[in-house]
Amino acid sequence: MRLWGRATAGPRRMLCFWLMLLGLALVMLTLSDLLNRNRDHSFHKPGTPRRPLQRILGPPQLEVIVDSRDPALELGVDLAPLKSLQEDQLLFVPSMQGTKSLPQRKRSYKMLLPKDTTAARTPTNGEMGRAVRLQLEGLQKDMEHTSVQKYGFSEVVSERVSLHRKLPEARHPECMHKQHSESLPSASVVICFHDEAWSTLLRTVHSVLDTAPKRYLQEVLLVDDLSQYGHLKTVLSEYVSHLEGVHLIRSTRRLGVGGCRTLGSARATGEVLVFMDSHCECQNGWLQPLLDRVAQDRTRVVSPIMDVIDWQTFQYNATQWPVRGVFDWKLDFYWESNPQQQDKDPEMAVRPVQSPALGGGVVAIDRHFFQSVGAYDPGMLLWGVEQIELSIRVWSCGGSMEVVPCSRVAHLSRHHLPYIFPDQDMLQRNKIRVADTWMDSYRKIFYRRDTLAHFIRQSESPNIAQRVRLKRSLGCRDFHWFLSTVYPQLYVPQDRPTLSGELYSVGTGSCADFPSGQGLQGGAMSVAPCSGTGSQHCDLNSEGEVRWGPMGALCFDIKGERVVLSPCPAHRPPNSRPQWKFIKLSGQLVHQHSQLCVEAVKEEGLVQSGPGENSTNSGAGGLFLRQCTHQPRQQWHFEQLVAPKGA
Ligand code: UDP
Ligand code: MN
Repeated sequence: MRLWGRATAGPRRMLCFWLMLLGLALVMLTLSDLLNRNRDHSFHKPGTPRRPLQRILGPPQLEVIVDSRDPALELGVDLAPLKSLQEDQLLFVPSMQGTKSLPQRKRSYKMLLPKDTTAARTPTNGEMGRAVRLQLEGLQKDMEHTSVQKYGFSEVVSERVSLHRKLPEARHPECMHKQHSESLPSASVVICFHDEAWSTLLRTVHSVLDTAPKRYLQEVLLVDDLSQYGHLKTVLSEYVSHLEGVHLIRSTRRLGVGGCRTLGSARATGEVLVFMDSHCECQNGWLQPLLDRVAQDRTRVVSPIMDVIDWQTFQYNATQWPVRGVFDWKLDFYWESNPQQQDKDPEMAVRPVQSPALGGGVVAIDRHFFQSVGAYDPGMLLWGVEQIELSIRVWSCGGSMEVVPCSRVAHLSRHHLPYIFPDQDMLQRNKIRVADTWMDSYRKIFYRRDTLAHFIRQSESPNIAQRVRLKRSLGCRDFHWFLSTVYPQLYVPQDRPTLSGELYSVGTGSCADFPSGQGLQGGAMSVAPCSGTGSQHCDLNSEGEVRWGPMGALCFDIKGERVVLSPCPAHRPPNSRPQWKFIKLSGQLVHQHSQLCVEAVKEEGLVQSGPGENSTNSGAGGLFLRQCTHQPRQQWHFEQLVAPKGA
């Protein structure tokens, strides 16, 4: 053994050496191949020549992934631009800045998507039999239906609309003559999106690029709030890399509307932030009037008139001026249009109006003011009331809000919200934060009208310590000041109204109702199953008014023999006779002037009242005035859902 061993030791060592050398060479070859391949991925684009890094003119603009757990974002502190960059897995996208090459057309990208297999060539009418045509029509309808379900609007129709559509002029002629300062501040347009459709997102971006003058547009920041749809990944990165001045930021965590905007603001370099929804279209000249107003007063937060894009037809509808943003006691937001006002004051046509709140669709705000006033509340869950929180805070802490009529941007009004939220009480939880942080003792009024929020609040407390500290450190005013100075039109329900709650009809087992979709101007009262949510809440106050709904702006009134809702009179003559009286003993609600009683009546005739009756047979009823009797149809209870002391 030993002999054999000694005799073969020399050649064996040599063999090992050569084998090792060969292995090393192989490893080096593979490594260099891998490296080259990576580089190919990074810079090679279909249709564009490969370019080495050093030949890119100017600083390369990176698509960045931002670790949004960065604690500095919590309070929206100004960050140095692009602090903690990570490269996207395969998306190191150099900018095409300075080149004139047009972005590739959407179609070529869409071909990559699996759902686009249906987008085959459409045969001409001549080629198709009737059956085939019908089948195709059916397919189109299906696609349309699916796209509505997926996005809350018809994406199929949206795809037919140009990405560069020009909106019809809707501005007042005087707006065209208005002069703005030559030295307006620069704007960063921040567009957050979560699973937005391709066409609406890109139309928003192009619409900004097509309408905002270059010298005022610092940048467009597209902030991806952790979208899942495939078309918003590589394809979007590619597309955006061809657009000058547009940058894509990807969050590594789902932030929600407010958090996402705060992230965008931390990366923005323009003097004024313009937060814009990812499904908007701008009118010509929309940006300058906004910048002008902010430049004059850096604590002024402004919004254009928000026109409306129809979710089905994508038709553009101009909103009537004057309009302002308001909210009710359920903390729901509305745009309130009051065209009659302009007839009284023609000068109004081009003059901005102050607004108690602004919607979220488009808001322009000075970047430093935004940061110092506390950005968006980081404690808010994904979606809802962040615009009301910002509004109350801006006003209470030294700023103001207004709508600027010479600026118009259209926002897509969706059929429904397309998101699946992990927390179904998310909206209530956000509202609770607003109520507890900003509304002082007035929050009782909110909790009386949002029963769900009331019950959630009873079992848990919001973590608002940080926001309360912010409020204190900024020296913000209280909600009483806000109500009396900024929004005196909001009726403040009496702390102890004579009676309040759902108006329950003993005879029908249901409640007085006025479906919220019927408008702010009022209409006929009906009866419907009691909701128990606060949506049928009304107050009988000490002045004998029955005030209805979350605004408290509509009152029980009569039209013929019907009980209807009309806008409550602004001023009642002092010592005027109360209109309504409730007789506790009999449960009768009496119209004082006629001395008639309110009765629950079915459209077709009288509701049969009797011992076995329940609420299901009282769907489309109405309230009528009748001679007073003691039958159950005229018996009512004010069912209090929440104790008057509230939360
Ligand atoms: N959004 C977001 N993250 C979310 C929910 C919404 O970034 O978790 C974006 C959304 O894509 C849109 C904006 O925030 O651009 C406002 O949301 P949305 O349009 O749904 O609100 P709405 O206009 O319906 O009130
Ligand atoms: Mn929107």
